[in-house]
Amino acid sequence: MEELKKPASEEFGSLVFSDKVMKERLPKDVYKAVHKTIDEGTTLDKNVANTVAAVMKEWAIEHGATHFTHWFQPMTGLTAEKHDSFLTPQADGTAIMEFSGKELIKGEPDASSFPSGGLRATFEARGYTAWDPSSPAFVKDGSLYIPTAFISYGGEVLDKKTPLLRSIDALDTEAVKILHILGDKDVKHVDTTLGSEQEYFLIDKEKYMKRKDLVMCGRTLIGAPAPKGQEMSDHYFGVLKPRVSDYMHALDDELWKLGVPAKTKHNEVAPSQHELAPMFEIANVAADHNQLTMEMMKRVADKKGIACLLHEKPFEGINGSGKHNNWSIATDTGINLLDPGKNPAENLRFQVFLAAIIKAVDEYADLLRISVASAGNDHRLGANEAPPAIISIFVGDDVEKLLDAIESGAAYTTTGKVRMGTGAHVLPEIFKDNTDRNRTSPFAFTGNKFEFRMPGSSLSVATPNTVLNTAVSEELSQFYEELKDVPEDGVKDAVRALVQKTVKEHKRIIFNGNGYTDEWVAEAEKRGLYNLKSVPDAVPHMLDEKNVDLFEKHHIYTKAELESRYEIYLDNYAKEVHIESLAMQEMVRKDLMEGMIGYMHDLSSELVEKKTVMPDLDCTFEEDTLKKLTMLSNKMGSALEKLKTDTIEAEKVADNLAKGKEYHEVILADMDALRKEADAAEALVPDQYLPYPTYAQMLFSLR
Ligand code: ADP
Ligand code: MG
Repeated sequence: MEELKKPASEEFGSLVFSDKVMKERLPKDVYKAVHKTIDEGTTLDKNVANTVAAVMKEWAIEHGATHFTHWFQPMTGLTAEKHDSFLTPQADGTAIMEFSGKELIKGEPDASSFPSGGLRATFEARGYTAWDPSSPAFVKDGSLYIPTAFISYGGEVLDKKTPLLRSIDALDTEAVKILHILGDKDVKHVDTTLGSEQEYFLIDKEKYMKRKDLVMCGRTLIGAPAPKGQEMSDHYFGVLKPRVSDYMHALDDELWKLGVPAKTKHNEVAPSQHELAPMFEIANVAADHNQLTMEMMKRVADKKGIACLLHEKPFEGINGSGKHNNWSIATDTGINLLDPGKNPAENLRFQVFLAAIIKAVDEYADLLRISVASAGNDHRLGANEAPPAIISIFVGDDVEKLLDAIESGAAYTTTGKVRMGTGAHVLPEIFKDNTDRNRTSPFAFTGNKFEFRMPGSSLSVATPNTVLNTAVSEELSQFYEELKDVPEDGVKDAVRALVQKTVKEHKRIIFNGNGYTDEWVAEAEKRGLYNLKSVPDAVPHMLDEKNVDLFEKHHIYTKAELESRYEIYLDNYAKEVHIESLAMQEMVRKDLMEGMIGYMHDLSSELVEKKTVMPDLDCTFEEDTLKKLTMLSNKMGSALEKLKTDTIEAEKVADNLAKGKEYHEVILADMDALRKEADAAEALVPDQYLPYPTYAQMLFSLR
């Protein structure tokens, strides 16, 4: 009989050292002290740390842990861990399980093999991890995982979490200052909230293993299109196939145990593409949970004989995968600051935050673009399913009307909720949302939050949220400067004037039309908006003076830290394309060519045989196919040679920016040219000759 499982509500968070566990197990004063640290950022006293460590260890051992690890997020965009056992051998040959407050709070992984973008050259190789008590520890695979920040000996930031935490603090400070001016004096603290929807592909693992391109690069580098793609729109929200459904259940189970609030799951637009959306959480925890989600997606797939693809563009010709970043700000008094409420025209709080966001996105669009820049995402942004590389804001009809009214000083009346007729009396009454969706906008207001749609599916959400928080903090701090000396009875008018001025000055960033059209590209250029198409186009703006100033002012990154990130982005980009070039050369030369030669060999033997037996027989098909394949293999040969020599040259370029450009302009173009011939050839070769599965075999592989 099938084992009866615990109800999901009991399973949820069962492997998390949660607030509830702390409350139950820690002495009252210690629990309070930890909370003070979490809520107010005070440093933890040594005795308190020791008590927490002891209790954590007991709890972790009860949950099967023998080891602990500081879990951090170096600039690879992945997570890193190094496990130490709790065991301490004793003189008498026995051992005890130990874990001190010091071990909880601080770790010393060797930083020298993580990317540091030159910071290491100037400073020291030593790195420290520091406990982040705002993200709960958990047990996984017999280890206690402690979320940590990662910094160098000299205090330089070496990870993605630290800047995010700093930006959350900056936004907290600036938002509270503004709220106090607006009269919300009881607000002590605001949180950034984040829900990141995660798209992914699933294909049969045996098939995956036969594709060198997928195994090494995460995306297919050649492949003739399948006869069927996404044109029938029959996959989106379609019935879950049994293997997919089984996978999704197993994934939910694993995530729930780790306290990841996985909520929604469905099929996406492309065949074999799916999505998971979590409930939103505090941004820092949500970012950690998204890392866990990606890891579990791969892990659970592997156990089920499936490969989970998180690359932004695994297959040509069908949609790629993104990670929609739903973002808002909430006060400790329970207000969502991006909720327009019943009467947005009178909701100055909403207007101020909306204005700050509009100004932030307009002034720092380049930074937002950079925050999602990667070789993989370049293939997605601007393709016709993803938001274009141009950043603009969609606000929807209602807010647009509100903004028009603010700008012109005219009265605004909300349409309110509109009842919809369903035409059938058994159906319940439903009300229309006040905005329709606009899937083409990179930055869309969705009723009570903004959805930033540019992040790629494999990206760490830490960086885009760091930029967003920092940019909005800056605008709020400017607003504060303008409002701080206004007498209390003049605040309303001053705020109205400020919002009006801001909307006037920054409305060029607002675009409610179709972002996929060429007209928009032209219009955006007229408006002076950035259109940063590739990593080497975008990344140099990181060091623009206004951007360095922004990050330094809010203590997010120093100039040196930005320079190091600039080098890392470009270096990673060149390396990624370099590996793709090599993988493609290998796959074309060895796998596709092998299939083609095998087929050509059989075709010509057949032709010779036929001609010997019946010299007058018409063998046009065989002859034609042979001719075409021979021609294509010649073209492939020269395209391959060009790719090979150009890649050798690109590799030699010393400057990272010049190198990135070389890979973008020359190598990717070479790869496109080679792919064109390769795909034409593959289309002529019967499947059984190919040592790797075709698009059709991969995309429809799970039943
Ligand atoms: P939509 O219908 O616009 O897609 P959903 O309610 O389905 O909105 O939410 C989509 C994602 O946005 C989910 O991950 C959800 O948790 C997240 N979300 C909802 N409200 C907020 C908020 N206030 N802050 C951050 N994320 C949010
Ligand atoms: Mg969405």
